[in-house]
Order: sequence, then structure tokens, then C-alpha cells
Amino acid sequence: MQLFTLEKEALLQRLKSSENGLSSALAARRLREFGPNVLEQGAKKNYLLAYARQYSQFFAILLEVAALLSFVADHYDSKQGSDVLGYAIIGAVIVNATFTFWQEYRADKAMEELLKLIPVRVSLRRDGDVVQVEAEDLVPGDIMLLEEGDKVAADGIILEANSLYLNLSSLTGESAPVARRLQPDTARRTLEAKNMVFAGTTVLSGSGIAVVSATGNATEFGNIASLTKNVRKTVTPMQREIIHITRIFTGIALLMGCVFFALGLFSGKGILMASIFALALIVANVPEGLLPTISLSLSLASQRMARHNALVKNLDSVQTLGSATVICTDKTGTLTRNEMSTKLLWLAGGEEISISGEGYREPGEFSFSRHNESSEQRLTELLTAGILNCRASIDEERLRGDPTELAIVAAARKKGITAPEMTKLQEFIFTSERKMMSTVFEDDGKIQIFAKGAVEVLLPRCTSFLGDDGKEQPLSENKRQEALARAETFENQAFRVLLVASGTEAREEALTLLGLVAIMDLPRSEVFAAIATCKGAGIRTMMITGDNPRTAAAIAHQIGMAFDRVVTGPELEALHDEALEEMLAAETVLFARMASSQKLRIATALQNNGEVVAMTGDGVNDAPALKKADIGIAMGLSGTEVAKEAADMVLLDDNFSSIVIAIEEGRNVYFNIKKFVTYVLASNAPEIVPYILQFFLKIPLPLSVIQILSIDLGTDILPGVALGSERPEKNIMNRPPVRRNEKILDREVFLRGYFFLGVIEATAAMAAFLSFLLLHGWQYGTVDLADPLLHRQAMTMTLLGAVSCQLLNAWTMRSWEFSAFNLGFFSNRLLLWAMAVELVWVWAILNVPEVQRVFNTASVPLNDLWILLPFPLLLFCAHEFYKWLRRRKKNRDLLPT
Ligand code: ADP
Ligand code: MG
Repeated sequence: MQLFTLEKEALLQRLKSSENGLSSALAARRLREFGPNVLEQGAKKNYLLAYARQYSQFFAILLEVAALLSFVADHYDSKQGSDVLGYAIIGAVIVNATFTFWQEYRADKAMEELLKLIPVRVSLRRDGDVVQVEAEDLVPGDIMLLEEGDKVAADGIILEANSLYLNLSSLTGESAPVARRLQPDTARRTLEAKNMVFAGTTVLSGSGIAVVSATGNATEFGNIASLTKNVRKTVTPMQREIIHITRIFTGIALLMGCVFFALGLFSGKGILMASIFALALIVANVPEGLLPTISLSLSLASQRMARHNALVKNLDSVQTLGSATVICTDKTGTLTRNEMSTKLLWLAGGEEISISGEGYREPGEFSFSRHNESSEQRLTELLTAGILNCRASIDEERLRGDPTELAIVAAARKKGITAPEMTKLQEFIFTSERKMMSTVFEDDGKIQIFAKGAVEVLLPRCTSFLGDDGKEQPLSENKRQEALARAETFENQAFRVLLVASGTEAREEALTLLGLVAIMDLPRSEVFAAIATCKGAGIRTMMITGDNPRTAAAIAHQIGMAFDRVVTGPELEALHDEALEEMLAAETVLFARMASSQKLRIATALQNNGEVVAMTGDGVNDAPALKKADIGIAMGLSGTEVAKEAADMVLLDDNFSSIVIAIEEGRNVYFNIKKFVTYVLASNAPEIVPYILQFFLKIPLPLSVIQILSIDLGTDILPGVALGSERPEKNIMNRPPVRRNEKILDREVFLRGYFFLGVIEATAAMAAFLSFLLLHGWQYGTVDLADPLLHRQAMTMTLLGAVSCQLLNAWTMRSWEFSAFNLGFFSNRLLLWAMAVELVWVWAILNVPEVQRVFNTASVPLNDLWILLPFPLLLFCAHEFYKWLRRRKKNRDLLPT
């Protein structure tokens, strides 16, 4: 027998539960019996596969082909030692793959840890109390309380439904709202039962109570999830960058390889030498360390963001954040503190009442502008109507519910008013579309309705008002204008204004105006600076709020958020898409009286204008816009589970300033990878140039292929990766956003790396090589050296020429614009470690026989090492000078003409 066919009592009996919920002891026992409420699928990442995949990365393949080439070469001529080279290249592939995998694995683990900070919480009844537990701890028999915006965490059968609508699209693919009802169902399949709620679906509206019938893999979602596991792949901006960089590096590598292979053949060096040349040029050009650097910098950025309460859900959105050009933000809670307090009341009779006391629990005084014998009575009526129509509650331990409502409850508490006993019949819920809510009661057979909401929505529904004699009077045009004028005055002072009314029918019509409630929500103090930062960073900020235009504008002024015009929901409705796009291109707009569903249009219009949009949201209806935006940002405190799921980033503290910090980190990743690429390009030059020169000049080979590998892996990879962990430069928020089509590997990177720093390094390497030889009796024209030790020493000098330059290059490259002296010697701990490793490596090359044998090096007399000294210093000073020129030019460009 299916559980959903049972009547309530039988059902609860079968599940050994009650309307009060399970006892904690029983719940704990069941948790051991049924296991945690999680889907155990093959979704656990297969790390072996992930590791294996590193060997099929493009650069890995390039190196593998190179290794193969060396073995082939060895097959035809085994005296050249090409087999050793083959093994060395394979070693390089393994080191690179392992290192990349390890970085990605660590980034993954760090991400998992961060995601644990966004737990899915569910409200339950246990031991007769309402408690919040993590979704994992749900067990069959638990009584779930469902509210709009909740993600259903387990399958359950409905015990109570209040206009409950679900979105079942995760199960059925159909996204239209589906009504749920109480009656036992006779459906054949569980999925068709209309009295059931399912794990993985979401509550679109209404509320309800359900008893859990299945958890974890036993749920319908568990069934489906184990059947299909299709992950849709889209190319993120970061992947596009990687493809771009890979293409360029590969292009250069193959081009050089081919050209020199051909040249080698034609000049009669033989096919073997020609292949080794080609091979060297390929190996020299592959940027080992690129992928681990990217993972590391993304991962570090996401961890730093988390420290500022901004959690990204996948690493790639970190970089997208860096190119945000506009932030569309909510007002309440994000720009303001969401600590609402009722400051002023206006009674329909004409009195204005101010209330003292700030917090939700503090006492306060009521002072009347004027007073008659019915004033107190009418005040009580207003506040009673308010609390009867609130879901929020304040008790000794806890605050529950929406801050706007808490403010009303708090005001009633100050006056000592409690809700009278009445039977609740129905609730017309609040949505940002309706901008009002009401609750229907029955009292001694009489119907009573209490409503509250936006003035312009509710006032037209009022036909009478509570006059200063304590009696209802028809709502005259004068009174209507008085109410509107009073609301306007409040709103201009940044108050959020609610109108409160009552009625005697079960519909939101023919209401009696009781009065207005003016609620203050102070701006967050740090928002002012954050808005200013955005302005400097070329990022537009636009408020999208459900609140009144006047309140919204008043708050915008307080926080320094500039806008050219205010557009309200109905005005937006009347606007064509093209007109909206045109307006958004020219002006910064403040959107007021918006419904959540209109955010999607705004996001789309901005994107059509080429903007990269960050958009905040918290409600169910915000989800489409959050998905559509380039970076959807959900509120961690006030956000619904639905919004969090749709978002790319979750703000644990709901705070606008956290977005700005996250953008700064996103930009930093971009620049750190730029630094890395420039650094690697600089060292490619001294690896390539010796081969080119050897071709045209009569000199011995200055650098062997194995030595190229030793530069790339032994000395380049760690400092390079360390550059990926550099902190944001101080002007990173003083420049415009990274443009969509702006590439990491752009002209400047290329010129700076290859042709500026690279040329210095190549000169250093060749100068070291040639001066060492000349100092030891070599004469130009001798290609084959009689003394193999001398040749090895000379090659070691070439190697050291490049490595010593890279040592200082890493230091000056720490900043893209600023002097290396301003950075603080100890501020990049990873780089210090990398330097230490590098020095040990250099020492080993010079002194350890085993290493010398593999890498074809030899120890060099100390006297000759002086040759190396000038070049790193030259490189350092030249780059610092370049940065100084760049700063100066930029300042000049910025000066007003
Ligand atoms: P925002 O979050 O952007 O400030 P909301 O969409 O929450 O705006 O609210 C829009 C309007 O709806 C408010 O200005 C107020 O008039 C009304 N309102 C807000 N909360 C409630 C509520 N709990 N009950 C009734 N009306 C409300
Ligand atoms: Mg709100």
C-alpha cells in the first residue's frame, strides 16, 4: 500500500510520528537506521580519471610527442643520448601533470569546504517545537514546515496546505506551478500523487506541512538522479582564456619547430640534428605551470572572498566577477541593515505618533502630536491589525520572520499589545508583485480581514477610514489626499511606509483605512565607501527595489549612489525592450516599485548592451534573473534556498560591500595570470635564442634540451605559480573593468615578456656562455670543443644566465605597475619558498654529481660566476624603469586637458 493513499491518522501511525513531530531520540535512532538524507551517487569525483586526464592536456601531448621523437632519434643513432632526453621529457610531463592535478585537487577540496558554509536548512517540528536542522539530518516521519522559497529536502505527504504551489521541473522538466492539496490520492505512481512534495523541488508560493516519507536515495529525485547524470558544459571566460593562451603558445612552438627543422635539413645538419632542434624549440615554448597557476590563483581568490563573506559556487565565476561593469542591487538588507524599527505612526483620524527605542526588544515611549479620548483605542486597533497580519514573532530567545514585520511586532510589544484569540481562516500572501498581504479570521461567526502593504496598492482598496471619533466614516477625497501626502512626507525622509487596513469580508476590497506605519532602515555604514569604490572602478551601481521611489531615492542619496532617473515598475512595463536598452546605455537608473520578475528584463537589456551584470536577489522570483545575470548573487541570511541555488555567489552577510571586495579579487586573478604569463615568456627567450644563434653563428651548442627542461621545471614553475598568489595591487579598483574581449595574453604581455625582458635574459645567457668560453681560451669559429668539461661548464653558464635573471624577474614581476620595493619583502610567502627551492636547485646543478650527469652540467669556478652578476640587476632596473614610465604616462593621460 502506498503511503499517499492513507488518511492522516493512518499515515502518521504507519510512520510512527505525530503532528508534534518525532522526539529527538527517535529521530537520532532513525538517522542511524536510514542514513543521512543525501544522494550517494557516482557523483563523487573520480580523481584517478582526473589525474589521467592531465596527460591528455594539450601541452602534455605536445611534450609526449617530443619524447616520442627523442626515442625515435635514439633508435637511429644511440650515441647521442637521445633516450635520456626522452626520459627527461617524460619526467617533465609527469611532474607537470602531478603538480597541476595536485593544485586542482587542493582547489577542489578548498571549494568543498567553502560550500559547506552554505548549508541547506529546513524547518521541522520535533518534540513539539519548531527547530531548524540541516537537510542531511531529515529522517522519515519528520514533520517538515514548508514556506515560499524553500527547497524541499525530502519526499513527503501533505498534512496541511495553504495555497501551496511547487515547481517540479527538476523531476518532470515542466516548470509551470503545480498545486498541492491535502486529500489522499489514488494515483498509480508516486510522482503523480497530488498530495506529495518531492525532494529537489521548490516551493513557489504558499505554505504547508508535510510528513517525510522518504529520504536520500529512496526519494523520487534519488531514483532519477542515479539514472541520468548529464552535466551541461559551457565555456567559461577562464576556459576561453586558457584556449587562447594555449593556441598562441602552441602556434609559436610548432612554427619555430617546423622552420628550424626545415632549415636544419636544408643546411645539411642531417635529419637527426634537425629533429633535435625542432624538439628543443617545442619544449622551450611549452609553458609548464600555466594550469596550476590558474587553479591556485582562482582558489586563493575564492578563499579570500570567503573571508569577506562572499562565497562563490564555482571557481570560474571568480574571474567573471573581475569584469563586472554593473551591479544591480537590492536595497533592503543589502544596502541597508535590515534592522527595521517603527519610528512613526499616522492614524487615519489625523494624529501622528512618534515612537522611541531602537532594537526589537527595547522598550519605547509613544508620543502623540495630539490626543483625544479615542486615540489610544485607535492606536491599539492599528497595531492589533498589524500583528494579526504578521508571520513574524519575537520571544525571549528568538526573532523569527521578516524584519519589516518584526518592526510592527516590536512596536506592538512596546505598547503591551498581544494578539487576541481568533481562528485563522486564510492568508493572502505577500509577493513583490502584489506588494501587500492580508489575513482572514473568524471571530464569533464574524469574518475579519487585516491587510497591510504599499500605500498606492492598498489605498484604492479602502472605502472608509477610522475617524477621530473612533467610528468608521466613508473615505472622502480629502482624507485620501491627506493619507497620500502624509505617506509622501514619510517616504521623502527615507522611511518605508506601510498602510494598514481592516475589513469584514474575505477579500482585499472595501477596506477601512486604519493608518500608516513608517519604518526606518538605516544604510549600512560601509556601503558609502563601497559605492565610491565602484565609481572609481568604472562599475555602475543600480538599485532595484520593491520600495517606493521616494524612499529609494532618499536612501540612494544617503549612501551616495548617483542616478539619472527613477523608473517604476509600471513605467518599465510600458517600455519596449529597445527603449529600455537605449535608456540603460545612456543613463544610470534607479528602479523602484519593481516586481522581482522584472529583474530578468533589466538583466537582459544590460547584457544586450554588452555589460557584464552582477545582480543580487533573495526571493523565488529572483531566480531567473540570478541565472541570467553573469554573476547571480544570492543573500545568505535573507535569501531563499531557491535563490541560493540559482546564484553563482552567496553573500553570507547580505552586505553590498562584500560584492565589491569580491570584484577586486576577481580582477586580481586576471592580473596575476598576466604576470605569470609574462614571467614565463621572459624565460622562453633565453631557451630559444641559443638555438637560433647556433644556427647562424659558428659556436658550440650553448644549451641542451634537458637543460631547457631544467629551467622550466626546476626554476620557473614554482616562482611562476607563486606570482599567482600575489595580492591585489592598490590601484586595481581605480581602473575600468576588464573588457569582455580583453585577453590575458595581449600585446603588452607579449612585448614585455618576449621582446623586452626576454631579450635581456637571452643576452645574459649568451653573454655568460660566450665570455666564459673566451676567458678559457676558445676562439670564435670552433664549433666542436675538444674539452667536454669546458663545454659543459659553458652550458651551465648559459643556464645560470637565464636562471639568475628569472630570480630577480620574479621579484619585479610581482607588481604589474608599481615598484617592487613597495610590496614588502615577506608579503608573498609562497614566492620566498619558491626562491629557496630554486637556490637549492642551482646549488645541486653546480655540485651534485648525479644531477650534473642527468642535466649535463658541471661546477663552475667561483671566479667566473661574476660574469653573471650585471644582467639580473640590469633586468630588474629596466623593468622597474618601464613600470615607472608606464605610471607616469598613465598619470599624464588622466590629467584633465
Ligand atoms: P525591497 O525588498 O526591495 O525593499 P519589497 O519587495 O520587500 O522591497 O517590498 C516592496 C513593498 O511591499 C514595500 O515597500 C512595502 O510597501 C510592501 N511590503 C514589504 N514587506 C511587506 C509585508 N511583509 N507585508 C506587506 N507589505 C509589505
Ligand atoms: Mg524585501
